Amino acid sequence: MSTWEKRVVAESKLNFIAGQWIAGEGEIENRNPSDVSDVIGNFAQASAGQLDAALEKARDAQRIWAGYGLERRQAVLQAIGTELISRSEELGKLLSREEGKPLAEGKGEIYRAGQFFTYYAAECLRQLGENADSVRDGIEIDVRREPVGVVAIISPWNFPTATASWKIAPALCYGNAVVWKPANITPASAVALTEIIARQDIPEGLFSLVMGSGRSVGQRLVESSGVNAISFTGSVPVGRGIATAAVGNFTKVQLEMGSKNALAVMDDADIDLAVTVALGGAFGGTGQKCTASSRLVVHEAIHDAFVEKLVVGAQAMTVGHALEAGTQIGPVVSEAQLLENLGYVDLGKSEGAELAFGGARLSLSHDGYYMSPGVFLNTTNDMRINREEMFAPLTSVIRVGSYDEALSVVNDTSFGLTSGIVTRSLARATHFRRNARTGVVTVNLPTAGTDYHVPFGGRGESSYGPREQGRAAAEFYTTVKTAYISAGAPE
Ligand code: NDP
Repeated sequence: MSTWEKRVVAESKLNFIAGQWIAGEGEIENRNPSDVSDVIGNFAQASAGQLDAALEKARDAQRIWAGYGLERRQAVLQAIGTELISRSEELGKLLSREEGKPLAEGKGEIYRAGQFFTYYAAECLRQLGENADSVRDGIEIDVRREPVGVVAIISPWNFPTATASWKIAPALCYGNAVVWKPANITPASAVALTEIIARQDIPEGLFSLVMGSGRSVGQRLVESSGVNAISFTGSVPVGRGIATAAVGNFTKVQLEMGSKNALAVMDDADIDLAVTVALGGAFGGTGQKCTASSRLVVHEAIHDAFVEKLVVGAQAMTVGHALEAGTQIGPVVSEAQLLENLGYVDLGKSEGAELAFGGARLSLSHDGYYMSPGVFLNTTNDMRINREEMFAPLTSVIRVGSYDEALSVVNDTSFGLTSGIVTRSLARATHFRRNARTGVVTVNLPTAGTDYHVPFGGRGESSYGPREQGRAAAEFYTTVKTAYISAGAPE
């Protein structure tokens, strides 16, 4: 056996199904996008039978878990969160190694994932209902939330730990069982999180990890009548298919999908602030964020000065290996994603946009999926590069003549996740906050970067179903019961 083969065998990772770590019907190899010679390991692929076993066991485990006292559930979530936070350096390194985001972002993501668990640990103890008198004599009403049951969680690769955590933590907090299918391209982060959850005081089968492809394991999971709710983050076409499958079983569904977020830069903006906000929003996470600023809608009075500094700023950003000091933009996640991104660069040029900088494949000392951050100028909002989610380190500048035109361009999209404005005018900021048709609005801040204790989600093709995060998550992960109680006739 070669050294390479030994390494792969040694690092094979299993699924966690119905309380047991088990091999699957096959394995996939996971390689580092910063350096494709670096094999992270081989990861088990669950069979249909294993998925069914996970779902069956989850049903029984959920009833036991829902019967635990709240403090016992709170302690489990607190322990998971505390461990993630204390190991954010180590686990962040693993995340960056397999996903490609710079190490500081990888560590930050693990830390944030921990905060989702500690936040929902506290929420465990704040589950209060309502009571009321009936409109009829002698009857009292008790309204409380109960767990929805078995929750299927399908998560993407761009925030492999944080997205999963902002779904798993509230699911467990509100008394549900979880069957989790992570993205197949980032399985190491999924196994790392599962190892922490599996060590807790939870009923056997309450939490299962079923790695496998979306088309097989994912599809079977969302079509299963053994699932009571599905929470998904990913692309619009897959989300649409999941919604269709869910309706067939009357399964509750929550979808977070694509976006085409716009940042409006007004003529009264602080230019340096606007450039910093635009660069962070466009190229953070290598542009692979559902909250990325992919349209920069710039007032003509500030356009030239803004663009000059924007291009200089993009040129100055260091693209490199995710784990190397100084890297500001890591590789994109895969060869397929890189080819798709380069396809959008060609498309933009063919549509008449001017590529001011970047948008090219880079050959660095490590063999990885690198590309330079790209800035398109002279674009119009009807170009496909301004209508389709690219999920790439690419951004487009759209010149406008007024605030009103800017707002109309911002809202002219089939999506509606985030939008932002850079302005010194309170009147414009207020008008924008009230009239931008997105689920999240930012003022003098990047369109990316949200908190965990408040709702997150969008409109249009960006989201479907109840909001995620904060207390809003209770709407999806619980079902309401209204009880009418009569004391009966006096003795
Ligand atoms: P997908 O929507 O294909 O994948 C997201 C998740 O869904 C993954 O876990 C995937 O599994 C799973 N999945 C895929 N097909 C099915 C199915 N039929 N039934 C159930 N689950 C399924 O996104 P991609 O990763 O392919 O990315 C493609 C594009 O989607 C990106 O370029 C970007 O535009 C958008 N996207 C948006 C995200 C966001 O945060 N809004 C996140 C990720 C992607 P598997 O990995 O095994 O295929």
